[in-house]
Amino acid sequence: MRKYLAIVSSALLLVVGFAPASAATKYSVNQKTLATFGSSATGLTGMQKSQIQATVEANPNAEKFICTGIRYYSQPMSVNIMVRKRAKAACEYAKQLNPSLSTWYQNKPTQARSYAGKVLLTVKTDAEVSGLLSEGYADTEAIPVMPFRFTEGEPCTGATHGSPVVGFLKNGNPGFINCHQLSVWRKAEGAFAIDPVTRKPLVPALVPSKSVFSTSPMVYITPQVSDARPQTALSPGDGFNNIAPCRLVEADTSGRPHMVSGFPMAANRAIMDSEVIVQVIPVDFADYRSGKSPGADIADATKAVADFWSRMSDGKTKITWRVPNTYYNLPKKAAEYNLSGVFPNPVGDSYDSYVEAAVAASDSDINFSDVDIVLISHAPETPKNTVGTFIAQAGMPGSEMIAKTSEKIVYNTLIQGADWPRNTQNWIHEFGHMLGLTDGGFSGNMGFDVMLHYGNAELTVWNRFVLGIESDSQIHCKTDADTSTHLVSPVAWPGQRTEGIVIPLSSSKAIVVESRRRTGYDALLGKESEGALVYEVDTSGSGNFGDGPFTTLAPDRMTVINGIWSIDAPLKNGESISHSGWTITVKETGAFGDVIEVKKG
Ligand SMILES: [Zn+2]
Repeated sequence: MRKYLAIVSSALLLVVGFAPASAATKYSVNQKTLATFGSSATGLTGMQKSQIQATVEANPNAEKFICTGIRYYSQPMSVNIMVRKRAKAACEYAKQLNPSLSTWYQNKPTQARSYAGKVLLTVKTDAEVSGLLSEGYADTEAIPVMPFRFTEGEPCTGATHGSPVVGFLKNGNPGFINCHQLSVWRKAEGAFAIDPVTRKPLVPALVPSKSVFSTSPMVYITPQVSDARPQTALSPGDGFNNIAPCRLVEADTSGRPHMVSGFPMAANRAIMDSEVIVQVIPVDFADYRSGKSPGADIADATKAVADFWSRMSDGKTKITWRVPNTYYNLPKKAAEYNLSGVFPNPVGDSYDSYVEAAVAASDSDINFSDVDIVLISHAPETPKNTVGTFIAQAGMPGSEMIAKTSEKIVYNTLIQGADWPRNTQNWIHEFGHMLGLTDGGFSGNMGFDVMLHYGNAELTVWNRFVLGIESDSQIHCKTDADTSTHLVSPVAWPGQRTEGIVIPLSSSKAIVVESRRRTGYDALLGKESEGALVYEVDTSGSGNFGDGPFTTLAPDRMTVINGIWSIDAPLKNGESISHSGWTITVKETGAFGDVIEVKKG
């Protein structure tokens, strides 16, 4: 990644009267003069194009990109038209390279002969943002130290997955590695480097053009909320406040009433109010007793789960883990519990008995009265994947995989399993079931939301709405037939901005529009995945079968194929989708998110 230093403009001329800028914002300014144009040329040469591209790439967080055509002061006014055309061409090309740029072109006279006929690029970036990014990297969160030590080049025999995990490179530095061919640890392809001192993943400030298709290693980019505003006129928000028609009724009749994609939330799930309490029951087996600390043994996973779900709620919900200091001793040997069955064929009855045994060993010690979720973890001395399946038992009717404690029955049970190497994404996904969210079906096609795909983990605005962690005021419920225009802010941003448009098609179906950017947990996104994500929610779709409750709606340039995650579907500026009698068009895109026009017909 190129290291970029802002050049302050004092050395140059004509810094007066540029495009209006908000007085409150301090900008860092970078300027660049394009190579000379041919005598009367108004189009761009290859050299000029590459200069513009370099400037755009060096200023990924630019808020304003100004192109000024320069006329020598004594030249006739007709030269104005020519230099203005040159400036326009330069800004149009910049916008083509980065559609989220706010561009502005103009012409100015100069008394400096060497600038006559040239085009000056002036790029303004919010000074605070540019300061934060002065090293050329986005602001990411440090990755916790893992309880296991995985090292590049060593065998990883017995691994349950080949997704990136944090381990160590041959040189001893931390790095993302994966279990290559389920055989040997190697440096994960296309993964971010990790700063050995701060343990922060080094995510380039510049958003790449292509997304990384992988399981996200849960890199978190701190969202940089922009106060940029679109130029397009917006419809008054109070016309979309009647939220009731947008609360789609849960209509899945396939036998999964315990997890939903609609309203109301299923009974007995952990409600995301101010606090969700998770009681860990750490156990060890007669043949593998442990003297270790159960909290430390799963600290990376519990932190990741708490951070993720709390952030999805904008900090409104705190996830509290209660972890005893020692392992409870189960009376039998590990193999006698018969838990080695691998998903989708674990032996259910064995897991029922395992939960029962864990509760029996701990019930006299633990007060379960205010507990929302029980997690059964096992000591790391147990041979890897002795517990062969990670289970989220969200109180499926009739299931005995529930914690019958002396205080109450806890219907939300997580069982740590298939967790070597640690599968943090899986922990976060399974936790979502405890909260009542369903899956994406057998052959879904939505490549966003940790409940649907482990790559682009930020929850959809729809699932946030279902959980009650998105305020009603953040949803525009569109029911009238007038053409309307809405601003949707990136869904990963904190705060109370509008983040979704819901257009009900029936009591159980709706079109949903939201804005996706490479920020928050969507660290793997490239430009191809940024934009307005449009999808249909059908609450009669089963999380277990078919293509599930979510269907990506894509523009004509691509075809949605069931079973394939359509990570390049989000609409770019000017693109539109027609579906069920509605046309959704992106009218403007920028640092603020996406401006969406909704039109009947
Ligand atoms: Zn699931």
